[in-house]
Amino acid sequence: MIRPSTVAFAAVVLTAPSVSAQAVPTPLQHFGFEMGEHRKLADWDQLTSYYESLARGSDRVTVDTLGMTTVGLPFVMLTITSAENHARLDELHDIQMRLADPRLVSGDEELERLLDQGKTVALITHGIHATEVGSSQMAARLAHRLATATDERTLDILDNVILLQIPSLNPDGLQWVATWYNEHVGTEYEAAPLPWLYQFYVGHDNNRDWYAFTQEETIHTVVGAHNAWHPQIVHDIHQMGSDGARIFFPPYIEPWEPNIDPALTASVNQLGSYMAAELTAQGKPGVVVNAQYDAFTPARAYMHYHGAARILSETASAAMATPITVTPDRLGPGRNFNAAERSWNFPHPWEGGDWGLPDIVDYMEAGALALLTNAAKNRRYWLESFHGINQRAVDKWEEWPDAWIIPAGQENEPGVKYALRILAMGDVEVRRAEAAFQADGMAYESGSYVVPMNQPWASFANTMLEVQHYPDLREYPGGPPQRPYDVTAHTLGYLLDFEAVAVDGMPEVSLSDPISPPDFDFRLPSHLSGGDAPRIAMYKSWQEPMEAGWTRWVFDKHRMPYDTLHDADIQGGALAGYDVLVVQSQSPGSIMEGFEQGSVPPEYAGGLGPAGADAVRTFVEGGGRLVAVEESTEWVVDLLDLGVRDITSTLPVTDFYIPGSILRLELDAGTEVGEGTSGELAAWYWRSSRAYEVTDPAVQVVARYGSGDPLLSGWVLGGEHVAGQPAILTAEVGTGSVVLFGFQPNYRAQTLGTWPLLFNALRP
Ligand SMILES: [Zn+2]
Repeated sequence: MIRPSTVAFAAVVLTAPSVSAQAVPTPLQHFGFEMGEHRKLADWDQLTSYYESLARGSDRVTVDTLGMTTVGLPFVMLTITSAENHARLDELHDIQMRLADPRLVSGDEELERLLDQGKTVALITHGIHATEVGSSQMAARLAHRLATATDERTLDILDNVILLQIPSLNPDGLQWVATWYNEHVGTEYEAAPLPWLYQFYVGHDNNRDWYAFTQEETIHTVVGAHNAWHPQIVHDIHQMGSDGARIFFPPYIEPWEPNIDPALTASVNQLGSYMAAELTAQGKPGVVVNAQYDAFTPARAYMHYHGAARILSETASAAMATPITVTPDRLGPGRNFNAAERSWNFPHPWEGGDWGLPDIVDYMEAGALALLTNAAKNRRYWLESFHGINQRAVDKWEEWPDAWIIPAGQENEPGVKYALRILAMGDVEVRRAEAAFQADGMAYESGSYVVPMNQPWASFANTMLEVQHYPDLREYPGGPPQRPYDVTAHTLGYLLDFEAVAVDGMPEVSLSDPISPPDFDFRLPSHLSGGDAPRIAMYKSWQEPMEAGWTRWVFDKHRMPYDTLHDADIQGGALAGYDVLVVQSQSPGSIMEGFEQGSVPPEYAGGLGPAGADAVRTFVEGGGRLVAVEESTEWVVDLLDLGVRDITSTLPVTDFYIPGSILRLELDAGTEVGEGTSGELAAWYWRSSRAYEVTDPAVQVVARYGSGDPLLSGWVLGGEHVAGQPAILTAEVGTGSVVLFGFQPNYRAQTLGTWPLLFNALRP
């Protein structure tokens, strides 16, 4: 027991780092349990109050609220470093900003001073995926350790590293999951899944938003952490399935996106390997590197275009906070390793057995400490490497054009604005030409935008504006394609339907200061507002797919009036009050059956069922408009007995594979759905997309995938199978009608080019 008088005395005589054990509560004191106990989850209210008390009690910790979440909770970041560093944080920040932009460094002497005095800045982000419960619990334990420990390793970290810690990238989801779990722990529904998306709009896709910046949490992180500090290292902590390795660290598998500086690839390799080595040396089995995860899409890797190494870790999951037993027979081949066999990248296999939250939190904390140790021990290397990466960008890579030009006066002004917002929020310097000019023999109007490519974050601009040529990777020569971890294309010009031109030779014209990110003006088409607007319903399953959530986001941003209808609403006859029903991409089985009885509390079990399906059929036959996308079109075709078939469903993956690419779309602008668009657009095609064969005279083809080679950006295997084939269909059914989208008209809120098609489809 510590008597108050003793603590008060100790606080007076201790020199920095001064830590008052009385003032800084342990997690056990604050929460009533240790972080990472079986079946115990702290919620966001408890966690934020803990971080406030850490900041009050420790001169190593400050806590800032970067903004509010989608649902309205505080989104916080801790800054953890030694008391001495905190006292000169502005100066250390200034050093970091100069290393980030070598144009601000006056010469070798100043550079030497910056490298000598600067600190490694590491950002650790926790809990973006709320059902991966370990990392936001671990966050509190890590913060407490760094706030209080006095061992040499911790002091070395605090002296040499400025840690920015975002203890939850998704507080809304954390609060929902903890509440849900705590409500059901000890009941038959202890391991029941949360029956709604754990980020209000986009669920798991909140980790696919790192260049479109659509969600509040993404914006706070990019503005308040990445752009405010430009860290050298970013560690994002996740969980994966239960049946493989216990933890993954980089190196990643191929491919790496080609605009990422080679020194970053190498630094990711060394840091991930070091972390794996530390954990393995500690006797922790099951550590794998160079498996499963690639480094291609910027949707997960903002930092790779902003000078920072991205260290993803993925720890094996339990059943949320409930322990599980993994029998050895469940451990088998994974991507680039075998969980049952020793190999160079998996030197100490885990043999199976019990696994739970205490293990998860231990592995995660060991990973984070290894990362911080590397950041501290190699401080000088991290700073030199960071400066070098940014210097090479400022010198401009030979492969890059001298500038990108976004011409003024484009037809699709909203697309241009959306792109300018993305580039400027990505800290790219975008300047406005103050007069007309010529570049590469072409004339450009005054007011055109110029992105000079000799600037620190030019790699971000280049990857967003150029066309992607994803490598044709196979499991073995002539074998099936190697599945990309995510998608293969992100060319903004196609997604947003505007023109950007790469030019050689800097345009000779006076340019403005860099623009700020413009606000995007979401303009609702006139037929969807006012008294004559159709009454629109959006189907919301208890297994709501992310595509539906992204669509709600687009509708909400446009302030479009609509209601969401659950299975019970539709079964109860609610469709009578609507003109249009939207069903986003969802498998027929999931629509009809939903969660199995007994797997979730009864009010969330079951799907639309025969009664709901009948109600939808009656709605359409009686004059309603049903809009379906990708997978749900299969359900609609069956429900209404349309003569339509997905021609891609029978093709083997060795013949046909499009895992997330941009295709040319040819459409009939004279139709209702194509109205107001040009005859050619870009269509987002991925694994759930389809191309149709139509054998029903009542079905009209509104759009087809491009004839010839339909690929615009990304990777297509067997493009000839969809070339020229139907992509959007309409059909009259009774006195109503359906619109079937074979591709995704609203891919992650990025396909502004095809939003008009979706809005056009919303007509009675
Ligand atoms: Zn995750």
